[in-house]
Amino acid sequence: MEKIVSLCKRRGFIFQSSEIYGGLNGLWDYGPLGVELKRNLKNYWWRVMVHERDDVVGMDGSILMNRAVWKASGHEDTFSDPMVDCRVCKTRMRADQVIEKKGARQCPNCGSKDLTEPRPFHLMFKTYVGATEDESSITYLRPETAQSIFVQFKNVLEVSRKKLPFGIAQIGKAFRNEINPRNFTFRSREFEQMELEYFCRPEQGMELLEYWKEERLKFYENIGISRANLHVRNVPNEESAFYSKGTYDIEYDFPFGRQELEGVAYRTDYDLSQHQKASGKSLEYFDEETKQRFIPHVVEPSAGVDRTVLALICEAYSEDEAPDEKGKMEARIVLRFHPRVAPIKCAVFPLLKNRESLVVKAKEIVDLLRPCMTVFYDESGAIGRRYRRQDEIGTPFGITVDFETLGEKDPSLRDTVTLRERDSMKQERVKISDLLELLSMRIA
Ligand code: ATP
Repeated sequence: MEKIVSLCKRRGFIFQSSEIYGGLNGLWDYGPLGVELKRNLKNYWWRVMVHERDDVVGMDGSILMNRAVWKASGHEDTFSDPMVDCRVCKTRMRADQVIEKKGARQCPNCGSKDLTEPRPFHLMFKTYVGATEDESSITYLRPETAQSIFVQFKNVLEVSRKKLPFGIAQIGKAFRNEINPRNFTFRSREFEQMELEYFCRPEQGMELLEYWKEERLKFYENIGISRANLHVRNVPNEESAFYSKGTYDIEYDFPFGRQELEGVAYRTDYDLSQHQKASGKSLEYFDEETKQRFIPHVVEPSAGVDRTVLALICEAYSEDEAPDEKGKMEARIVLRFHPRVAPIKCAVFPLLKNRESLVVKAKEIVDLLRPCMTVFYDESGAIGRRYRRQDEIGTPFGITVDFETLGEKDPSLRDTVTLRERDSMKQERVKISDLLELLSMRIA
């Protein structure tokens, strides 16, 4: 993990938030490459979950909502984690982080047995809306995106005219005042979720819970996470919400252990029923064919953007050897991102920066590719060094413009370039006019 965290900072994937002031625990900023990786992930999720389906529409809800939402959903009363303090070293931890040894509870930090009893710690960040800070202006930063989907269910249903089963998808920020943020970005206090609320008839719930398992596993495979590192954990009843009829987590083998990437829960009609009761507004669905009116059930695949970004980086990180300028093997760090999520798709290099004809040609290629993909132009340093810099940030393709491109050696090679592939380091000669199609296909 240390190597990964240091690479993330050195190359501009992830920085500590407010770093020049000593940071703030559990908060992170994404740098120039991190933001590209994150956007590629979110765009691909949106493409697969919304654009490529007839039965899902999207929405984008506000982070602050009427406090009544959080009362009705149960969050105001129950969204808490049990917290324990060590009286000796003053470490504050979640109750599940306490070590159990021979029936005795121990502090994971100092080993002391002098611990407080677990007490609930509320995870929502409280804030005030408007000029007065009193009881009537309290609300919370949302701890999940799902609730805005539930409270807009009727509006979205009416405008989209969908029939059950259908889903509403959303990507957005969520906030939780985690007791003990740790493992880099894995447990943060501000993070993004990609959530789908898939509404159905009550009798379809269990079947759809199962249906989403394969769909979601396929998603992770399609962004380059190997199936061998993914695991489905059925969450036992005592751990899941009381209204859930079934929950499983999709977990990933992080370097710090097997941990949850996504939770898929069959939430029954709990949320819509609660909001219908509390608001007094009907959230029922009318089935034209059977003339039945009822509150739909819902299956929710809820994934974390930041955790998936971290998994992508962990999965991609590798070290091998590559030849330097003189053919001597040297160590190389390479991020083997799937081209679909790689922050930069293609780097373009003129062989020499002081030969204007090479530079002009290379810049023409940049202009040709840029409307369709992220391109990085680099003319400084030996070509091997330039390749290596791109390997380290996971750029899958490198294009070199050399004298053959100019037709100086062999006229038949005029307007061709070398296309180098990051993982195999294989080089092929490709016509400039074929580049756009070839690369677009490989990054799709
Ligand atoms: P955990 O048990 O790890 O606290 P959770 O079961 O409370 O997670 P959910 O409420 O199911 O999480 O939220 C759905 C998804 O949101 C999680 O699978 C995870 O990817 C993401 N998520 C939740 N809490 C955090 C957090 N503190 N930091 C980053 N991502 C988070």
